Amino acid sequence: MGSASVYSLTRPGPHRRRVLGIDRFAPPHGLGSSHGRTRIIREAYFEHPAYVPVVRRAFDLWRELERSVGRPLYRKTRGLNIGPEDGTLVRGARASVAAFKVPHQILSAAGIRRQFPGLQPLDEMIGVLEERAGVLFPEECIRAMLSQAAKAGAELKLDEAVVSWDAADDGVRVTTTAGEYRAKQLVLAGGAWMGQLMPELRGVLSVVRQPIHWFDPASHDEDFGPDRCPVTLWEYGPNRVFYTLPDFGDGVKAGVHYEGRAVDPDRVDRQTSTSEDAQVTDLLRRFMPHAKGRLRESQVCLYTNTPDLHFIVDVHPVHAKRVVVVSACSGHGFKFATAVGEIVTDLVTGSAPRYDLSMFRLTRFQ
Ligand SMILES: Cc1cc2nc3c(=O)[nH]c(=O)nc-3n(C[C@H](O)[C@H](O)[C@H](O)COP(=O)(O)OP(=O)(O)OC[C@H]3O[C@@H](n4cnc5c(N)ncnc54)[C@H](O)[C@@H]3O)c2cc1C
Repeated sequence: MGSASVYSLTRPGPHRRRVLGIDRFAPPHGLGSSHGRTRIIREAYFEHPAYVPVVRRAFDLWRELERSVGRPLYRKTRGLNIGPEDGTLVRGARASVAAFKVPHQILSAAGIRRQFPGLQPLDEMIGVLEERAGVLFPEECIRAMLSQAAKAGAELKLDEAVVSWDAADDGVRVTTTAGEYRAKQLVLAGGAWMGQLMPELRGVLSVVRQPIHWFDPASHDEDFGPDRCPVTLWEYGPNRVFYTLPDFGDGVKAGVHYEGRAVDPDRVDRQTSTSEDAQVTDLLRRFMPHAKGRLRESQVCLYTNTPDLHFIVDVHPVHAKRVVVVSACSGHGFKFATAVGEIVTDLVTGSAPRYDLSMFRLTRFQ
């Protein structure tokens, strides 16, 4: 979100700003929430239809960025939301496709098995198949946003941590491990560390550890490549979701959505446990049995969750003219980053909002 904000604020146009970006590490890095080589982008948004126009704008902006850097950032795979017809996932996805006329097909379990032999849903499950869904390559996306921003004049201070900040009528002051900076405005986008940058959020946000895993297919490798295997969300129990991504040469990726345990972002055990590995192995065995060969790699990533699992994108409650707050993204923010960067630019420049932002307001926690 920080890289996207820097990128958006330095794009040509009347809203362009002189920007200094500060990160305690050197993005892209593997210590926050944006690593792991792939991220799902999807439009049949089960979480809430209000996200659909935002992701549509993000699609356009990712494309534009991709053209500017001349490297692939997105790969279309199509997307499936699979679960019981009356479950949260299928109902939510259908509400979004209906509200915004998202091109889609409804498939029975047998239809899913026929079209995508790698996927083996239970008979009582159905699928919402969407055309435009696919995969973003997050490290490449971050590199692209930062390189474009630097080209446009942004100054990037990496491996430099913000220690404190304060705001007054005439501007903001930021103290880091290397010095002090003054600016007219400040955007806080600390991901899992937002509680340190904005202590008011400590009681609201929960940072959770989310393992991700890659498996070598046991057989039928051809069923799991990006041409034959859509990104898939599975409601495998009531309100319990896991997701799978096709094999880009490094294995089929799978992870459980939420269910992680709360952690301090400065003390994260980066090894997955036997029970975490076993949970995903078992889910894959049940729903994509041929994909479940050797577990070749696991990583740990962090979600920063709000109580309602919607984002925070808002002005600061006390320093509204000076400070914008962005993240937490509750485990589903990456796909929106370019569009969120643009919303941040609107908030910084005081422009009229492009979307109804009430779902993302800080006041909802009062
Ligand atoms: C396993 C996993 C799978 C996911 N899958 C998807 C998906 O398929 N699709 C999707 O859309 N989203 C997905 N997400 C969610 C998405 O990746 C995150 O919502 C998004 O990347 C969060 O971005 P962020 O900028 O808030 O956090 P980060 O990218 O972690 O950035 C926060 C930055 O703030 C910096 N920082 C923190 N404190 C300081 C400080 N004091 N001084 C300076 N810098 C500081 C950190 O170094 C870090 O670089 C997934 C997340 C995980 C963990």
